Amino acid sequence: MTSTAVALSAAPAREEAAARAEARFVESFGYAPDGVWSAPGRVNIIGEHVDYQDGLCLPMAISHRCFAAAARTPTDRVRLRSVQDDVVLDLDAQQLEPGAVEGWPAYVAGVLWALRPYISGAVTQGMDILIDGQVPLGAGLSSSAALECAAAEAIEALLGLGTTRLQRVRAAITAETDFAGASTGGLDQSASVLSRAGHALFLDCRDFSTRPVPWDLASQGLALLITDTRAEHSHVDGEYTARRADSERAAAELGVATLRDAAVADVERIADPLVRRRAHHVVTEIQRVREFDELLAAGTVRENVAALGTLLNASHDSLRDDYEVTVPQLDVAVDAARDAGAHGARMTGGGFGGSTIALIEADAAEQVASTIAAAFAEQGFTAPQFFLALPEEGAGQDR
Ligand code: ADP
Ligand code: MG
Repeated sequence: MTSTAVALSAAPAREEAAARAEARFVESFGYAPDGVWSAPGRVNIIGEHVDYQDGLCLPMAISHRCFAAAARTPTDRVRLRSVQDDVVLDLDAQQLEPGAVEGWPAYVAGVLWALRPYISGAVTQGMDILIDGQVPLGAGLSSSAALECAAAEAIEALLGLGTTRLQRVRAAITAETDFAGASTGGLDQSASVLSRAGHALFLDCRDFSTRPVPWDLASQGLALLITDTRAEHSHVDGEYTARRADSERAAAELGVATLRDAAVADVERIADPLVRRRAHHVVTEIQRVREFDELLAAGTVRENVAALGTLLNASHDSLRDDYEVTVPQLDVAVDAARDAGAHGARMTGGGFGGSTIALIEADAAEQVASTIAAAFAEQGFTAPQFFLALPEEGAGQDR
């Protein structure tokens, strides 16, 4: 395959980005903020379309973050600005209700609203917040969770609430589902807040318990190449609903509460071939997460890179053939990455568009990316966008 010149975007250094957010706050509001907080976007390494069946997932925080420079003011006004959007909003903190705020400010105002149970009634809630995000919007890398979780860190610190990380995860989820009116399962916010540098986050969707899993790519000369395929999502909601319904039918037929309780051998008993394939994906995908986790417990990523790559490949093939949530752009990106020598590659996120990941040698990033770009050009697809990601630290204070 021919190669095509590509722009590989590594995230700007965290310190510089935080300083930039602080400077932009000063430009916007005319005084210095009390601090700068940030939270990362995420990719799911493996464990796709299993969350609603009590499954297991393994996300990691990526290098691209959303920054919130913020200051408390002695009022009840909340003033919001984003470098990525021209809207400037001035809200009354006492008047926040679901549906009252539209667009991106709802993700920030929603967090303040969701944190209300922790705010003493007498305290004024006035604040100025400047948002500066690096996570590409709508690419399946969870810019929305990064925004909410950065806001949650800032609000926690400004108002001195004393919430735990888990309480902030829940507030961010509530902000998105109950205040902004979008749907989210909670994987994004858990990964954005709870991830540790050099680790993936093992997440059990049955009880939302988590633990860090060693996944130190940088020290082993490895990296994840993220390809935003820029494929248009279409009919996604209907397709998601249909997949959920198929999984529920399968669980009911097997007499289990969720497919977490089913074994691969059980799946063969399902009468309808389509429902059987859907269940086969869910049950085998949960098993792949277990095996992935076991490999990472047994040795380094480098020592197990071939076996880990095989599991990533099997995950994609299952999502393509059994679960049917891929589109040609996702399949082409994955095939091209494999052709270019990636250890493994798969779609990540809900599918029907969005991004793929490839586990690669760090020094092969440009070559793999240019092979994918050439394959896209050959197919006449919109040019994809590439990001290099290493497992980074979750939400926290920068300045
Ligand atoms: P994803 O989370 O996969 O990027 P979503 O549709 O869930 O896609 O969230 C994208 C939305 O989040 C944007 O449309 C915007 O409303 C909001 N958003 C995220 N980051 C920012 C930002 N830095 N500035 C303004 N809005 C943002
Ligand atoms: Mg989102």
